[in-house]
Amino acid sequence: MALLEVNDLERTFGGIVALDGVTFDVASGETNVIIGPNGAGKTTLFNCITGYHIPDHGTVRFQGTDITSTPDYKTARTGIRRTFQEVDVFDELTVAENISLGAFESSPREMMELLDLLDIHDKEGSELTLFERKRVSLALASEGELLLLDEVFSGLNPTEKPAMVGYLDALAERKTLMLIEHDIETAFDLADTVTILAQGQVMKRGTPEEMLDDETVREDFLGEM
Ligand code: ATP
Repeated sequence: MALLEVNDLERTFGGIVALDGVTFDVASGETNVIIGPNGAGKTTLFNCITGYHIPDHGTVRFQGTDITSTPDYKTARTGIRRTFQEVDVFDELTVAENISLGAFESSPREMMELLDLLDIHDKEGSELTLFERKRVSLALASEGELLLLDEVFSGLNPTEKPAMVGYLDALAERKTLMLIEHDIETAFDLADTVTILAQGQVMKRGTPEEMLDDETVREDFLGEM
């Protein structure tokens, strides 16, 4: 059984079709990267998986349980956690205090160590760099089994990007990851599987190698790669 099963999801906003029959599975331990042009439906897909939006049609199953109509504050408890493009860390609290709000069932120490947060545990949120804030929000999301990460690399500099790949590789050994990513090279570095979403539909799913071998995919979605 797959960890996540998305079946025939549809979601419209007024007349706009954001998701149009999206079906795919994510296996436990897999790192799945979603790419696709602006407006393809990537964020709406995350919103429907977490229950922030309820789809008009179709189902989302997590660990075999139908969670299609489960609101997001409850899906977080079932084991689906998320980071947002806008990083939400409290400015007036230290790193350790921010982490303590994460309702960790086990000690957060392992994740703080993995994300190099122990050395800056007493630094205040307002003093953190974007890269540090992103690592705090990753630690907060890491209590889940399935982590949905929205553009974790945006705004990072060329030294920080490979370091973030390293952190995500380490996380991926423990968790199942789904990432929305615009930087194709970074996406392909991390991905076991890539899902191309365009106009609310899955255009192709496969390994990075399968994507690169497909001429239509290269021309339509991968720029000059
Ligand atoms: P981007 O890469 O620009 O973030 P995306 O692939 O995440 O895009 P979505 O944000 O999911 O795409 O949007 C898909 C379509 O649905 C777009 O046409 C968008 O305008 C529309 N849409 C998404 N959310 C809403 C909403 N709350 N109200 C109205 N339209 C929406």
